[in-house]
This record gives sequence, C-alpha cells and structure tokens, in this order.
Amino acid sequence: MIDLHCHSTASDGTDRPAELVANALAAGVRTLAITDHDTTAGWDEAAAEVAALPVPFTLIRGAEFSCSYTGSDDRQISLHLLGYLFDPAAAGLKDERARLRQSRLDRGAAIVAALVAGGYPISWPQVRQIAGSATVGRPHIARALQQAGVVTEVDEAFADLLSHRSRYYRPKQDAPVVRMIELIRQAGGVAVIAHPWARRRGAVLDEQALAELVEAGMAGIEVDHPDHSPVDRVRLRELADRLRAFRTGSSDYHGNHKTVRLASETTDPRELDRLLARTHGVEPLHSMGTL
Ligand code: AMP
Ligand code: FE
Ligand code: FE
Ligand code: ZN
Repeated sequence: MIDLHCHSTASDGTDRPAELVANALAAGVRTLAITDHDTTAGWDEAAAEVAALPVPFTLIRGAEFSCSYTGSDDRQISLHLLGYLFDPAAAGLKDERARLRQSRLDRGAAIVAALVAGGYPISWPQVRQIAGSATVGRPHIARALQQAGVVTEVDEAFADLLSHRSRYYRPKQDAPVVRMIELIRQAGGVAVIAHPWARRRGAVLDEQALAELVEAGMAGIEVDHPDHSPVDRVRLRELADRLRAFRTGSSDYHGNHKTVRLASETTDPRELDRLLARTHGVEPLHSMGTL
C-alpha cells in the first residue's frame, strides 16, 4: 500500500520519524511519504530506518507547505501544498521553509498571548517545550490546553478555542501558492494540493481555482483524504482527470494528535508512477530488502 502524506515529530505528528516508518510497515504500507509541515528535518532519521529494513519498502521524501491563494475578489484562502522529492538544498525553497517556520513561531506566540489574556492558564515556553525542535502548530497549543485541563482532547481544542473562527485565532504569513509551485519545481520536486476540499477547516478553492493551479504547474490532486466527503471525492476525481492531473490518496496521519490511521487512504501505483516521472530533485529511497 502507498500512503503519501504523513507527519512525524518534526512537525505536529507524535511518532518520531523512525517510529513512523516502523508503524507504516506494520500497517501494510510499502511506500511511505514523510511530509512534515514546512520542514525536511525528519528526512534523515526516516531514511536511516528505511535503509535498514530487510523487506521491500520505499521512502518518498516530501513536505507540506502552508500557502495562500488570492482570488479575483482579493479574498485570501489558505491551503496546503505537498512537495515531493525536491532538492532540500535548493536555496529559494529552503529560504521559504525557514520563513514559514518563523511565521509559525510568531503566530503561535500571538495565539498563546491571546489565550493567556483570555484567562487560559498556558504559556508560550510551555508550548515551545511541547513542540521541542518541531515546526510549531496549533496541535502543540492544543496539547498545552490539554495539560492545563482546559480540554480533555486535542480535537476539543480545535472545535472551539483553536478553530479558525475562534476569537483567539491568528493567521500566519503563508506563501503565495503560485510562487510555491514554482519553488518546488525549480528544486526538482512535484507539487500536489493537499486535502483541497477539507471544508471544515475553512474556505476552499473552487474548480476554477484548482484549474488555475494546475495550469501554473501543480501536477497532482489529493483526491482521497479522510476529510473529503464521498461526493467531493467523485467530483475531484473527475476534475483531476479532466485537468490531466494525477490523483493521490493519503491518510494525513499525525500519530495520536489525530484519530486517523496509517493507510486508511491509499494511492494507486499507476498514479505514483505519474508523480515520480515529474521529479529530479532527490530519489526515492529503497530499503536493503528491496529487490
Ligand atoms: P496549523 O498548521 O498551526 O494551522 O494547525 C493546523 C494543523 O492542525 C493541521 O496540520 C491539521 O492536521 C491539524 N488539525 C486540524 N484539525 C485537527 C483536529 N481536530 N485535531 C488534531 N489536529 C488537527
Ligand atoms: Fe498537521
Ligand atoms: Fe494539511
Ligand atoms: Zn498534513
């Protein structure tokens, strides 16, 4: 099975990169992409784990980038763009990853300051400690709220205090999506939109906007995702075929920060071949047990 979107402790997942690989193997995954938010920091540990496996296994190195789309009415829509197999040393993209991580720090501190002003007993040093060296995200703030006894589950924090509709919410400075597509391609990678119609997270792109992005060089669409309804999956599949974009399916696993399991959604091997044909940044990594 092929699972092309997963998080580790390099961002807001709870499995270390090596544990992510081991858990994927146990779940029946044989091709795994590690796609932490705005970082490649988990790549090396995952690669070392994969290299030593005595069974066939392939690691696709990637990342999930925080982007924004500006519509014709100037309305901003935030979205996530997956980049696969790009060269991590390519300067433009590397600089943009660093800028995005800094923006997450500034914005995390702003959300925490607002919550503290609202009387919630958490602190920014506490959130930094929970995140460790990871890219900071709202799940880390949710953990702090859980530690403080404000919520019992991470999910509960997202439903209210950390929702994009919350009075405590603050935006981050995301990257213009067309520029991000260009940076990923310049680095030899391929760009795929993540969970385009995960509607409960906020406004989403319409078919026209998705067509524009494909025109701009985005090669694939994540059609099967836990946050997509059955009707939306059918429409996205048709759209992808019409635009000649490849289709992926992925779990977006976050360890126990979310309930979704590895390989709960998967990618067709032929679609993966279409993805691979478009990359020349870094190679997929094969285990020693791969023939
Ligand atoms: P941020 O990147 O800081 O804007 O936070 C969004 C992240 O939180 C995304 O990576 C989601 O995967 C994650 N997320 C969204 N909703 C939930 C939820 N209900 N429970 C846990 N994590 C969530
Ligand atoms: Fe996440
Ligand atoms: Fe995402
Ligand atoms: Zn994700």
